[in-house]
Amino acid sequence: MMLLKSLRSSGSFRSVLLLRFAGSVRNASKFDYDLVVLGGGSGGLACAKEAVEYGARVLCLDYVKPTPAGTKWGVGGTCVNVGCIPKKLMHQASLLGEAVHEAVAYGWNVNDRDIKPDWKKLVKVVQNHIKSVNWVTRVDLRDKKVEYVNSIGSFVNPHTIKYKTKQGELKQLTAQYVVIAVGGRPRYPPIKGAIELGITSDDIFSYEKEPGRTLVVGAGYVGLECACFLKGLGYDPTVMVRSIVLRGFDRQMSEFLAAMMTERGIHFLNTTIPMGVERTPEGKLLVQYRNTTTQTDGSDVFDTVLWAIGRKGLIEDLNLGAAGVQTYNDKVIVDHTEATSVPHIFAVGDIIYGRPELTPVAILSGRLLARRLFAGSTQLMDYTDVATTVFTPLEYSCVGMSEEMAIERLGADNIEVFHGYYKPTEFFIPQKSFRHCYLKAVAEVSGDQKILGLHYIGPVAGEVIQGFAAALKSGLTVKTLLNTVGIHPTTAEEFTRLSITKRSGVDPTPASCCS
Ligand code: FAD
Ligand code: NDP
Repeated sequence: MMLLKSLRSSGSFRSVLLLRFAGSVRNASKFDYDLVVLGGGSGGLACAKEAVEYGARVLCLDYVKPTPAGTKWGVGGTCVNVGCIPKKLMHQASLLGEAVHEAVAYGWNVNDRDIKPDWKKLVKVVQNHIKSVNWVTRVDLRDKKVEYVNSIGSFVNPHTIKYKTKQGELKQLTAQYVVIAVGGRPRYPPIKGAIELGITSDDIFSYEKEPGRTLVVGAGYVGLECACFLKGLGYDPTVMVRSIVLRGFDRQMSEFLAAMMTERGIHFLNTTIPMGVERTPEGKLLVQYRNTTTQTDGSDVFDTVLWAIGRKGLIEDLNLGAAGVQTYNDKVIVDHTEATSVPHIFAVGDIIYGRPELTPVAILSGRLLARRLFAGSTQLMDYTDVATTVFTPLEYSCVGMSEEMAIERLGADNIEVFHGYYKPTEFFIPQKSFRHCYLKAVAEVSGDQKILGLHYIGPVAGEVIQGFAAALKSGLTVKTLLNTVGIHPTTAEEFTRLSITKRSGVDPTPASCCS
């Protein structure tokens, strides 16, 4: 027990579990595999790689169907190929364009004032990076002895999976446990021309043509992020918003974000839905739309139409009926242990109904599941207080409750909202707008004032909030926050200076940076 404790505290808990359970896993199984993972994305790969650590025999099936525009990619799933990674690289590319102009203000001699991005070159370097990650992923799977098959898997019965080999041969195998980690793909609206003429985030990061004037339909994460990097790269995006921007997020912060985007020249078509797309004789895209508030129709011409209207779960090929797995709205229903309606079949990642669609969520839940299945662990995934970031030029990051959620759950009288605008030091010389640099802490009103939610709009928001997310999970209070010495001059330190409450009505605009 002492040894277990010391190994646990020295971070070697995994080694102990491995020793205790590796042998038993191998001996017990009467199936071809201890675990078959359907889907080689963030969640599936994390689960498969963790399971082999404990001696499990694991096979992972992963297959990507090309998009209607013909885009396809390799192993690793959405995040690596058409999600977080290419998005972050394009976000960075767009921030660098802004930084070049700031550099001039800081005294750099930049000779070519007509600085322009080269879209084709950007796409090429981004795609090269992705291919290198695909390659590393395959090598990693081989080294770790996870069997990887590039094919679509589907159920024959609850313990049997079938797939086709590259040569077209139909194979079947049995598994003690099956993990469904098939993720999702972008939706297309059911209107004329949507599939034939529009693209999605699955296409944009490898799009050979310059996007030009782009209509981005949808105002969730994908829509806002794509519109922002396109703007930063010199294109002209318009965001079509069906109801509100960033539904589900803190309203005040979301509206700030939209205002920041407007300030940067991104257009919004509010309360508007697309009605149809057709190609003009000049080769452009004519989009018909309807404003649902005024009930008026309109149209405009674009070079590119990008659907960012959410994602559907990829259950279509799984033949879940043969396994008896219950679904809801193309997602798989699971309990608190990620078990489906069939006890030995689990699901992780985006395919789960009602859980955050984020890579770190998929990875951690996949790892924890493997430990529970093969290493005797009992630790469950905690889906609360998951931090997230919207990668717009001033990023928005948050963890915990929105102001609205706190009011709904605790009542307005029982919460206190501390807030403030701030002026990043580095913004002064290039005279960047800090109108939307704002942060707030939503806290309980009484006692040490436990913090329920933190929200921040500003530079590198994700980097700022990540550490605070750990603090919040550890029971951070306003008292602790205000007793924390800041790191000066940073923007993150603004959280340690939050002394003005909304209730007080005091103007939260700072007089200077250092008081
Ligand atoms: P996926 O990564 O989608 O992997 C599932 C895999 O299974 C796919 O390869 C799929 O083709 C395959 N598959 C499907 N059906 C079958 C079958 N029957 N047999 C075999 N294989 C099958 N998250 C963040 O945390 N941060 C971000 O910044 C971020 N940015 C994003 C940007 C964009 C544009 C998008 C679209 C998403 C972004 N996400 C981000 C979300 C993140 O990518 C997903 O949450 C994550 O990839 C989900 O992982 P997963 O394992 O559940 O599924
Ligand atoms: P979201 O569900 O976040 O947003 C979809 C948007 O499309 C909403 O604004 C919605 O409006 C709108 N919409 C839906 N249907 C229609 C329609 N028929 N016509 C017009 N508009 C429509 O989906 P996303 O695709 O933006 O993102 C999917 C998931 O991927 C996110 O939930 C997130 O978890 C993950 N992701 C994470 C990122 C990150 O961590 N930075 C980045 C990108 C994605 P309404 O509000 O009215 O329903």
